[in-house]
Amino acid sequence: MIFTVAIDGPAAAGKGTISKAVAAHFGFAHLDTGLLYRAVGAKVLNGQDPLDAAETLTARDLEATNLRTPDVAQAASKVAVVKEVRAALVAFQRSFAARSGGAVLDGRDIGTVICPTAHAKLFVTASAQTRATRRHAELQASGISDSFEQVLADVKARDERDTNRAEAPMIAAADAVTLDTSGLSIDEAVAQAIAIIERSRSSAL
Ligand code: C5P
Repeated sequence: MIFTVAIDGPAAAGKGTISKAVAAHFGFAHLDTGLLYRAVGAKVLNGQDPLDAAETLTARDLEATNLRTPDVAQAASKVAVVKEVRAALVAFQRSFAARSGGAVLDGRDIGTVICPTAHAKLFVTASAQTRATRRHAELQASGISDSFEQVLADVKARDERDTNRAEAPMIAAADAVTLDTSGLSIDEAVAQAIAIIERSRSSAL
């Protein structure tokens, strides 16, 4: 059975948490596509050419320990504007989406570019203030002491770059269901996501 769930949205809206929970609930595989761009960004920070970094990406690169840092996040969103870098990552994402047993992919362009025919599409969002508060707490917990103002500025800079780029900009697909997690607990957001996917699953069966 091939069943693809596309979950897009801005940084720290809850996509990652929701995607993992949804994948576990349905027994689907999960791919965090942001990690691909982060791994390319990290290699570029180490001096590699962006396209070369994307074309030679290996599973090992996805295990680098610095991929969640603010510097790598910014580098990821900078390499993500490069058309050829995006093109180099398409085939891997599409083959993951088509694996049997079901797949959840989260990112920015999954429902629009990578898997336009996904069986279920969500656009997970939240206010910039809420997202920065969450990201700030996560960074503090991992020992990174950026100020709240710095985290908010980083979130807004990435939103701006991801939304306004020419290639595969971040936008909700016309047939995506938008889930605003601003006032929701994790459990509530996950329950709503599962209900949305369950509806698409019943109509696909
Ligand atoms: O999701 P995450 O915050 O880890 O993504 C890091 C960056 O990678 C994003 O800000 C975005 O620029 C880029 N990205 C993308 N397309 C995706 C996933 C991530 O452009 N499908």
